[in-house]
Amino acid sequence: MHSVTLISATDFAGWRRAARHCVNMDVAPEHISWRVQGDVGSLFDSNLSSIEPTVESATAFTVPRSFLQLAELVILHRHAARFSVLYRLLWRLQREPQLMTLSVDEDVARANAMKDAVRRDIHKMKAFVRFREAPFTSPPRLIAWFEPQHHIVEAVAPFFMRRFPTLQWSILTPERSVHWDLKELRFGTGANKSEAPADDAAESLWLSYYASIFNPARLKVHTMQAHMPKRYWRNLPEAALIPHLIANATSRTEDMLHRTPAEPRRTRRPTRSSRTPSAAVSSNGDQDLDSLRTAVQGCRDCPLWKNATQAVFGEGRERAKIVFVGEQPGDQEDLAGRPFVGPAGKMLDRALVEAGVDRKLTYVTNAVKHFKFEPRGKRRIHKKPNEMEIAACNQWLQRELLAIKPTLIVALGATGARAVFGRATAIEKNRGRIIPSIEAAGGVHTTDVLVTVHPSYLLRVPPEDKQSAYERFVADLKLAQGYAGKR
Ligand code: SF4
Repeated sequence: MHSVTLISATDFAGWRRAARHCVNMDVAPEHISWRVQGDVGSLFDSNLSSIEPTVESATAFTVPRSFLQLAELVILHRHAARFSVLYRLLWRLQREPQLMTLSVDEDVARANAMKDAVRRDIHKMKAFVRFREAPFTSPPRLIAWFEPQHHIVEAVAPFFMRRFPTLQWSILTPERSVHWDLKELRFGTGANKSEAPADDAAESLWLSYYASIFNPARLKVHTMQAHMPKRYWRNLPEAALIPHLIANATSRTEDMLHRTPAEPRRTRRPTRSSRTPSAAVSSNGDQDLDSLRTAVQGCRDCPLWKNATQAVFGEGRERAKIVFVGEQPGDQEDLAGRPFVGPAGKMLDRALVEAGVDRKLTYVTNAVKHFKFEPRGKRRIHKKPNEMEIAACNQWLQRELLAIKPTLIVALGATGARAVFGRATAIEKNRGRIIPSIEAAGGVHTTDVLVTVHPSYLLRVPPEDKQSAYERFVADLKLAQGYAGKR
C-alpha cells in the first residue's frame, strides 16, 4: 500500500505527477491512499510507503484532453475521494481508451457529477460575491465575504481581477483568501466573517439598484430560488428585499400595465452578439478593437442596454498616443452610434483644434457605453451613471486601453476620472498636471493620466465664466499634446 501527500487541496500538478508515476509503476487504484498535507492520519499510516508528488515519471503516456479538462475541475471538489476517483479513471484509461465516452460508467458519472458541482459553485461565486468598502483604508479597499462549497477561490480570482482591475479588493472565505493590489493576486489562509465589513456607504445604492432592476412582471419564484439558492442569502444584502419585492410584484405589474410609455421609438434594438466578450480575447490576452466593438453590443452586464439604442464604443486611431475618456454617450451619440458627436463633442472638437490636437490621431471613448436617460415627454434627459454601472462597464474601457496602449489617458470629468482611477478623483485638485504611471488595464501596462473637465461642463458654466473655463480646458489639452508628443 502506498500513500501520496499533496501540498494543498488544489495541488493538481502534484496529483498529476504522482498519478503518472503510479500508472507507470502499475500501482492499482485500491493500493494508493491520497491525502493533503495537514490531514489527520490514520493508525496504519506507518505501514504505507510514501510516493512523493514531486517525482517525475520516466515514461510518458497520453490521455484524452477531455480527461485533463475534467480532472482540473474535479480536483477542486470538496470530497476527499476526488483524487482516487480521478486516479481510477486514469488507470482504467490505459486499458479502456474509450472510457470517457461511457457516461453511464460509475467512475465517469461520479467524476462528471463532481465537475458539474464545481462549475455551479464557480458560477455562484461570480454572481454572488458582494464587495463592501473597508472603513478607514486609503486607497479604498473593497472586501467581500463568500462561502464557497468547493476549493474554487484560486480558479475564480482571475475573473475578479479582470473585472475590477483598477480597484483594490479582497475576497475572504473560511478556507482561503485572495487579495488584488493592482499588480498581482495574493492568496492567503482562510478568514473569519467578522473580518469583512458588515455594511458600507454604497450598500443603500446597491439595494436601490437591485430593486430598480427587479422586474415584477417576470417574477418566477421557483426559478429565482433555483438561481439564487437560499444558502447564499445570508451573505447577500439584497436578500432582505426579496420577500417585499415578491409580495408587491402583482400590484407593481398592474401599475406598469396602466402606465403610458413615454420613450421615443428606438431606431435599432440591440441584439446579442454571437461573439461574447470573452470570445473576443485572443490567445495572448490582447483584444482587437473591432472584435470589442462587435462584442460590446451583446453586453448585458448592467441594465443600461435595455433602453439605449445601441452600445457606443470608442473610435479613433488604433495606436493613438492620447485616449480621451468621457462619461457616457448622450442622446445624439446613442442614435449615431459614435462618441462625442453631440454638443459636447463639438465643444471638444473646437478646443482640440485650438490646442493643436488632431482628433483623428487620438482615440475618444466613454466610461459607460450605453446611454442612461430619463424619458420626459418625447425627450430623453441625460442621467449620470451610478457607481455600479461605471464599475460594470469598466471591463470595456480596460480592454480598449489594453488594445491601444496609449501614452496618456485624458480623463474628461468626474465619471471619466472615476473609471480611470477606480475611485472618486477631484477634478479641480488634480487637473493641470500629468499624474504619472497609474495602473491601468489590469496592471498589464502603466499609463500616465491627465484629468480635466468634461466639455459638457463648458456648456453649462455661467456666461461670464465661459471664456476663462474654455481657455483652461484648451490649456489642459495643450499640456496633453505637449506631453504625448514627446514620447
Ligand atoms: S453600459 Fe456597459 S456594462 Fe452596462 S450593458 Fe452597456 S456595455 Fe454593458
